[in-house]
Amino acid sequence: MLLDIKNLRTTFDIHVGKVQAVRGVDLCVREGETVGIVGESGCGKSVSMLSVLHLLPDYARVSADQMIFDGTDLTQLTPKMFRKISGDQIGMIFQDPMTSLNPLFTVGQQLTEPLIIHKGMSKTAAREVVLEKLRMVEIPDPESRMKQYPHELSGGMRQRIMIAMAIMCNPRLIIADEPTTALDVTIQAQILDLLAGLQKKLGTAVIMITHDLGVIAGMCRRVLVMYGGVVVEEGSVREIFYEPKHPYTWGLLRSIPQKSGERKKLVPIPGSPPDLIAPPPGCPFVARCPYAMNICNQALPELTPLSDTHCARCYLLCEGAPKVTWEEGRA
Ligand code: SF4
Repeated sequence: MLLDIKNLRTTFDIHVGKVQAVRGVDLCVREGETVGIVGESGCGKSVSMLSVLHLLPDYARVSADQMIFDGTDLTQLTPKMFRKISGDQIGMIFQDPMTSLNPLFTVGQQLTEPLIIHKGMSKTAAREVVLEKLRMVEIPDPESRMKQYPHELSGGMRQRIMIAMAIMCNPRLIIADEPTTALDVTIQAQILDLLAGLQKKLGTAVIMITHDLGVIAGMCRRVLVMYGGVVVEEGSVREIFYEPKHPYTWGLLRSIPQKSGERKKLVPIPGSPPDLIAPPPGCPFVARCPYAMNICNQALPELTPLSDTHCARCYLLCEGAPKVTWEEGRA
């Protein structure tokens, strides 16, 4: 197992209280595997990964029973030891490359820096590696691009630069946080193709954070569905798309456009996500769930195993509960 996280919890201390953004997430990623994390904005998907990378502000409190990366417990490392692993072996692609790249430095300066710091390379050697990576991400005329500032490049080109930055030190794991959200549809497709190609070529494991189920279907083998700071369903892409068991997953699937010619109304999920300063004591989806029962208000349901790879957190899966199927749920 490359990454094995148990009971990750992240809280933000703010003036009105403690925001419980991540409430006990377990996540495993194998070598070379692509795992998707999907859910609405504010469900905790990005915060959980930023917690792993120590990229949250000082007022965030992160704890976990374990956070093992390639045999090393990340919770036991000093900041210096952690920086060495995170910069070297875990690459991150952020959502908006315009705000992630430094506008005051050229692309070349920003790309050579990690090689000089993490690999101890000379400027000349680092430049050669950067040129090679820019070619891998299909940047035309890389020598000229290295001299340019981020604002001189298009959105798609900037995202390619971010991908080049993420693979610069040949990481074992890439975390891609909504890597295509800020791009138009045709560029989105190019960037996803590029990421899939690189993942195949380099054998890097990828965690894909997205609210777009189309991206999950095209890129991932396994999916975690998050809601209200917890994982509500986990399974293979096939299980999540064809045998979903959680009413929130049903809602997500109902709200994506169909490819077929038939005109089908998109069904939004009514209501809004829970307030994570005072999350409901029971199921986080209770206020929006059409199948909610009394017990759903009382305690958070456990994850019910459904197969070796599939589990869901819902009282409908308990013995004696009313039988509601995905087919009825989507009718
Ligand atoms: Fe709905 Fe209850 Fe299942 Fe939550 S536990 S999704 S409220 S039925």
